[in-house]
Amino acid sequence: MVDEAQRVTRLAPSPTGALHLGNAMCFLAAWLIARQRGWRVVMRLDDLDGPRVKPGVSEAVLETLAWLGLDWDGEVRRQSEAMVEYEAALRVLRDKGLIYPSRVTRRELAAWSEASAPNEGQAEAVFPAGLRPSNEQLQCLIDTTPLLASDDFAWRMRVEPGGVVFSDERLGEVRVAVAEEVGDFVVATKSGVPAYQLAVVVDDVSQGVTDVIRGRDLLSSTARQMLVMHGLAMEAQQPRYWHLTLIRGSDGRRLAKRHGDTRLTAYRQLGVQPDRIRGLLAWWLGAIDRPEPISMKGCLSAFDIERLRREDIVFGTGDNAWLTS
Ligand code: GLU
Repeated sequence: MVDEAQRVTRLAPSPTGALHLGNAMCFLAAWLIARQRGWRVVMRLDDLDGPRVKPGVSEAVLETLAWLGLDWDGEVRRQSEAMVEYEAALRVLRDKGLIYPSRVTRRELAAWSEASAPNEGQAEAVFPAGLRPSNEQLQCLIDTTPLLASDDFAWRMRVEPGGVVFSDERLGEVRVAVAEEVGDFVVATKSGVPAYQLAVVVDDVSQGVTDVIRGRDLLSSTARQMLVMHGLAMEAQQPRYWHLTLIRGSDGRRLAKRHGDTRLTAYRQLGVQPDRIRGLLAWWLGAIDRPEPISMKGCLSAFDIERLRREDIVFGTGDNAWLTS
């Protein structure tokens, strides 16, 4: 059991798109939960997504978070600088026979899943065990495929039936049927990049993260990350998970570009002050009864985990009008 004072959470922005109000609310919540309890807050930049990461965006994201009032402890970890660690983790998984190279294309996968069991509304095509290479092919493939430099092969994690059960600090017991939901998932892509599900596990262990606080949209990823942790025999470093309420647009979908420009930088350009943005976020978090400009100190004393909302929040035109009024 980790001592309360030794706990560590992390802020992990992706410098691919700009930060919007939904991301900001999660970061503020993570920061408040941690700082109220005297935990450390570390920063990680998820900058592995090569083509989508534009130069300078990482620095801009950090600057925007600081403008909002957040701070963090120690050096910023950048995924792009941790390749050696990811490769070492892949080697462990490979040597245990838990991952294998696969050449199956997205199109083949889509065709397969449509033919076998079309699953209405499923975001990701399921990769079934039946598409694994045969045992005869396997050894040769494993011996000849580099872990992070292959043009043709992705590495996939073998997912056995049975699912993953864990206890979430917000949601209680969660069950994810990984084999049915996604099947054998990618841990290193065909472009030779470690996949998010692998990188996050290595990062969290490396940064000593004890508490992962993030949006509920990542719930099903958590189960995959737990399988990777298990494969790496890192269960002892398993963090606690807190999955938070999401912000949705008035159409019920998760807040995104289609709901208008809710990037922090856009509001900043309009001259909106951070205390006003915090006012809306703090209200969403249940810390105050109505939106009103608030300092970081004010947020720290008003925030109460017991009042943190459990239902999703809808961002409406009224909220936007209040911010820009
Ligand atoms: N960078 C990811 C995102 O912005 C968060 C990853 C994580 O919390 O594990 O969605």
